[in-house]
Amino acid sequence: MMNKDFNSKLIFVALILMLLPACAGWVTDNGDEAVPNTQESSELRSSQVITYEKEKVFDEQRRFMVENDIKARGVSDTKVINAMLDVKRHLFVDINLRSAAYSDNPLPIDEGQTISQPYIVAFMTEALNILPDEKVLEIGTGSGYQAAVLAELTDKVYSVEIKSNLSAKARLNLDANSCSGVQTKCDDGYYGWEEYAPFDVIIVTCAANHIPPSLIKQLKDGGRLIIPLGNTLYYQTLTLIVKHGEELEVNHILDVVFVPMTGEIEMQQQK
Ligand code: SAH
Repeated sequence: MMNKDFNSKLIFVALILMLLPACAGWVTDNGDEAVPNTQESSELRSSQVITYEKEKVFDEQRRFMVENDIKARGVSDTKVINAMLDVKRHLFVDINLRSAAYSDNPLPIDEGQTISQPYIVAFMTEALNILPDEKVLEIGTGSGYQAAVLAELTDKVYSVEIKSNLSAKARLNLDANSCSGVQTKCDDGYYGWEEYAPFDVIIVTCAANHIPPSLIKQLKDGGRLIIPLGNTLYYQTLTLIVKHGEELEVNHILDVVFVPMTGEIEMQQQK
């Protein structure tokens, strides 16, 4: 009998102890609002605080990058600078590379490809002098970052990526960064994008040893095309072409290193 009584008292005390933390969860620090204090909700709140703080750090790093790596090197077009300030590069790289997103470097994306150095993105964009409403074709969507920067300048951005995995990921990145208007497709950009041609501007973000003829064809009269041109194994010269009827005005502007264009152009090189 004694034993049974003792046992039931123990069970009663254990029950009270178990209920206590759950009851305490409805009392907040300032005591005027009751919120559930379950482990899940506190984890959720602390992760939101960290994300918010990290966002502030990223904003600060992005401002620093624009001042020191972009404006200090001579990029001065206000629209380009604002685009570089607005587009969150950390959302176009893998989570484990986010802390390096605002460094002065290209960064790896999947499949051995890279997202270009921010200065080069800004430099190429400025060189193209894009007007609102102009139609822009990008060859080499990669992460979608350059396309997002272009989308800050015009509503008509089209981008072609040859690797399906990258194309699909870039689509997600663009949608998550309010760039659903950017049109993307997975294809060999050597052939441009006939359906939407002609373009005012074409930007090629992979290296080629010649200008793909379709791209010249799909460029409007007076249109601008920028491409890293040269030996795709070493370095290339960023080349700005302006189309004047049958004539091409060619400007060699800066030595750069880009990943090579693949697909048809590679097949031709092997011949
Ligand atoms: N602009 C990108 C980076 C480009 S890296 C960004 O902002 O992230 C170069 C990209 O060109 C790679 O993703 C590569 O797969 C792609 N590419 C290479 N050859 C191509 C081709 N023939 N057509 C379209 N894309 C190509």
